[in-house]
Amino acid sequence: MHREEAPSREQGPVVVLLGSPGVGKGTQGVRLGRELGWAHLSTGDLLREARSAGAPLGKAAQEYMDVGRLVPDELMVALLSEKLAAMPEEQGVILDGFPRTEAQASALDDALDKAGRRVGRVVLLDAPEPVLVKRISGRRLSPSGRVYNVHYDPPHRDGICDDTGEPLLHRSDDRPDAVRTRLAVYRETTAPLVGRYEQRGLLVHVDGQGAIDEVHGALLAAVKA
Ligand code: AMP
Repeated sequence: MHREEAPSREQGPVVVLLGSPGVGKGTQGVRLGRELGWAHLSTGDLLREARSAGAPLGKAAQEYMDVGRLVPDELMVALLSEKLAAMPEEQGVILDGFPRTEAQASALDDALDKAGRRVGRVVLLDAPEPVLVKRISGRRLSPSGRVYNVHYDPPHRDGICDDTGEPLLHRSDDRPDAVRTRLAVYRETTAPLVGRYEQRGLLVHVDGQGAIDEVHGALLAAVKA
């Protein structure tokens, strides 16, 4: 006799994208999420949305973001826990820009643990610092979401989006002083997380220097392996 199986509610994978500012976590995270049907959770994007909406979180984060410093753990952990809790457990998740400190990494473990989940893989996207500086300082954003780079992928008309004709934006934290601070904060506070995940056997390195398609292929293989 045919017996109906109850649908299994498998826990969705949780992948952390680790890497310096400018290495391409955002670009790659969005694409990976689309391809795998997983949520792409970027804490930087969430903070920028909160700022545009004039939300209290955005106001609290602004002074840190503008100079390239980290927003306090307390605020970030609350933000991420809320987003994770609102997601079905079977939803795969790509975390981009979180965790950035030891305290955030521990809070992530706790939040996932409550849902019977855990980090399944951590991908470290790597590129030398001069490449990162050129990428970040050349970055210009269209309100449409398209990202240009004045060195590698410029618009046809200086400062204007090819698709929408709108003026391109230069993120305040993509300016030289803030970039230097962001890279230093990454080196001192976030890079030590590599050891934590390496010890747990979760870390995979992916070279972030290739063309977007190449990096995407390597990332996909790393996540699926
Ligand atoms: P991103 O777009 O990931 O480069 O983030 C932009 C800025 O948002 C960072 O420079 C920080 O000021 C803030 N931010 C994003 N994620 C975090 C986080 N997990 N912890 C603290 N600050 C964060």
